Amino acid sequence: MSAIVPVVVVHGGAGDVALENRARHQDGCMRAAAAGRDVFAQGGSSLDAVQAAVEVLENDPLFNAGTGACLTEAGTLELDASIMRGSDLSCGAVTGLSPYRNPIRIARAVLEDGKHVLYSGDGAIAFATRAGFLPSTLEEMRTDEARQRLELVLQGRASKTWAGGTVGAVACDAQGRVAAATSTGGTVGKALGRVGDSPLVGAGTYADDELGAGSATGNGEAIIRATLTRTACEYLRDGASPEEAAQRVIALLGKRVQGLGGIILVDTRGRSAAAFNTATMTHAIARLGEDVFSAC
Ligand code: ASP
Repeated sequence: MSAIVPVVVVHGGAGDVALENRARHQDGCMRAAAAGRDVFAQGGSSLDAVQAAVEVLENDPLFNAGTGACLTEAGTLELDASIMRGSDLSCGAVTGLSPYRNPIRIARAVLEDGKHVLYSGDGAIAFATRAGFLPSTLEEMRTDEARQRLELVLQGRASKTWAGGTVGAVACDAQGRVAAATSTGGTVGKALGRVGDSPLVGAGTYADDELGAGSATGNGEAIIRATLTRTACEYLRDGASPEEAAQRVIALLGKRVQGLGGIILVDTRGRSAAAFNTATMTHAIARLGEDVFSAC
């Protein structure tokens, strides 16, 4: 069997990125994938790689995660993130988190703490405080673009739909150990307390060293009902290639639960795939020692 080349795959959300913005979206994803690859170059783990990649995109106001994330119906930020390690199926997640710059770091701290898997709202803040994270503010993290998008939705001039721009990463190291991470603001104008797929293990994020790892994006409610990332990993168990598994699960998303969205997937041999039934899903792939590939 040939050696596994460590790989990081990143997505910047399923949606419909305007032609003139695609280069910027691809550039963001390429920088994130390269940051994940750098982690491997320095001897880091798959878990470190997906976290590093997601942090780059949380910090980029172009994407719907961290700074620049989309707003609730009340104009506030309720951030969701999750991260999972395939070796022991350990995971950490936060949902309905108030403004913190990098929710994925807090999700990682939840994983490392190990007591619980998912913290919400005030409990997530209390956990973050105990773990030493400093909060940000709405003023610092809410962008004009996010405000304008909410205005359009509230005025009925844009459909109340998901924002696009959710971010995620999956990775496989030279030993076939996988990890996955996803971070988002959710959907534009979402009801207060609405939880999407991104913080939910098996829906938005899944990683298992016996199967592979996936990160999803798109209609959260549909993705939850399809348990999208876990289902894709089960297709890998049945012998499908990542390409086949990704295509099959997106077909299921469309047909069975009428969902729009996408997925990135790696298996434990370092093979990767991206599939979506939206107009675009910006993504990038970085293999150790190779140039970064990206597509929209
Ligand atoms: N899946 C995310 C959610 O429903 C949104 C997205 O991927 O754009 O919260």
